[in-house]
Amino acid sequence: MSGVGSARDLNVPPRTQVAIIGAGPAGLVLAHLLHLQGIDSVILESHSREHCEQRIRAGFLEEGSASLLESIGLGDRLRREGLVHRAFVFRLLGEDHRIALGDLTDGRGMTIYGQEELVKDLIAARRATGRPLAFQTPVQACSQIDGHEPVVVYRHNDEVWELRCDVIAGCDGFHGPSRAAVKPTAYTRQCPIAWLGVLAAVPPTIEEIVYAWHNRGFALHSVRSPQLSRLHLQCAPDEDLNQWSDERIWDELDARLSRRDGVTLDRGPILQKAVIPLRSFVAEPMGRGRLLLAGDAAHIVPPTGAKGLNLAIADVHALSQTLGRWYARRDDALLEDYSRRRLRHVWQVERFSAWMTSVLHRFPQHDDFDRKLQVAELRHVCSSPSAARALAESYVGLDSSRDLPAEHQLVAVD
Ligand SMILES: Cc1cc2nc3c(=O)[nH]c(=O)nc-3n(C[C@H](O)[C@H](O)[C@H](O)COP(=O)(O)OP(=O)(O)OC[C@H]3O[C@@H](n4cnc5c(N)ncnc54)[C@H](O)[C@@H]3O)c2cc1C
Repeated sequence: MSGVGSARDLNVPPRTQVAIIGAGPAGLVLAHLLHLQGIDSVILESHSREHCEQRIRAGFLEEGSASLLESIGLGDRLRREGLVHRAFVFRLLGEDHRIALGDLTDGRGMTIYGQEELVKDLIAARRATGRPLAFQTPVQACSQIDGHEPVVVYRHNDEVWELRCDVIAGCDGFHGPSRAAVKPTAYTRQCPIAWLGVLAAVPPTIEEIVYAWHNRGFALHSVRSPQLSRLHLQCAPDEDLNQWSDERIWDELDARLSRRDGVTLDRGPILQKAVIPLRSFVAEPMGRGRLLLAGDAAHIVPPTGAKGLNLAIADVHALSQTLGRWYARRDDALLEDYSRRRLRHVWQVERFSAWMTSVLHRFPQHDDFDRKLQVAELRHVCSSPSAARALAESYVGLDSSRDLPAEHQLVAVD
């Protein structure tokens, strides 16, 4: 049967103030920020709660993201269990160059806390508010977004339902349906390389995060918890995972992360492996009418800079402020301004992520000259204090609210 109305068994009303599509970090943090302002919302999520809570993805939180979560009461477990890193290492031809993030910035670093753990905390916090969060309700379409009462069409148990609202927040990730309704211009760069990412049940051999430049290709050593290592190897976008036994993965990691002193990695069972595409993508504008996009629905960065999750949190922080002002004044120009404000920061993060990707990987089109230039570039950032400081500033997170004084601002190029 199909109907129009509301899926009452899910506690979803027929109307809300803000309809949020997607229970990823963007949708869940936005819902909490709106709740704190007394703004009603409904979250519709296509997958089950278990699926959302077990999806292994990002794990690095900038100080700004961690502080925001803490300031809104979502940071207890994150502060207790998160691992704070105030440095990382570039391993260049087996030689270590330490980037002391804390010394190069005002003491800032990165907190390592699995996205799946954060999502568990966020779902529990949403449940505690009593406001609606409906799983297994895939959204099929967003309509009437140029009017005053947009409509979200979703499915549940083979029935079709409608949710009416004031504003739709498209937090449905890169493959969700909301971006298509906005019809933005898409700026895309598909990388000819990918990452083979693994989660291994072994305490990290190296205490610090290591980004290795190697003639066999890039490798990344990082941690997920005191018992879990997170490791990545550059691979082909169509890499066949069946060709990668645990032994081959450890051998390749040892080869690329090799140190001059011959220390190799402690090995353990590989719990999960996946090929992660490397792409850059920006949708402009990040919304139209009463539908605004946030997180991966609006932009993708290659994971080299560890920025995707942080951008999603910065987006919804700005979006919650925009919606708070909009409910006070009902001025639709505020909704248009959201995209302009966010795109400045988004492009800065795209720039940094593209730079990290370009200097650390072996690209098919590279010749020896390009490889020598990469080494020179990395040696420069490791040896020049001002270059290292610029790198550290971007790595720990550029302040998204910081804008140039008016006299220094460039005229927009749109
Ligand atoms: C393998 C992997 C590794 C990554 N590593 C890092 C990292 O180290 N550091 C980093 O910062 N970032 C990393 N990222 C990126 C980071 O995980 C994302 O940027 C982050 O998840 C964005 O959050 P989001 O809420 O915008 O989107 P998502 O987390 O994708 O959430 C979107 C939600 O919308 C739901 N949805 C989709 N379609 C519909 C629909 N039709 N109806 C209802 N719901 C729908 C999805 O099920 C999902 O729950 C990684 C990403 C991947 C895939």
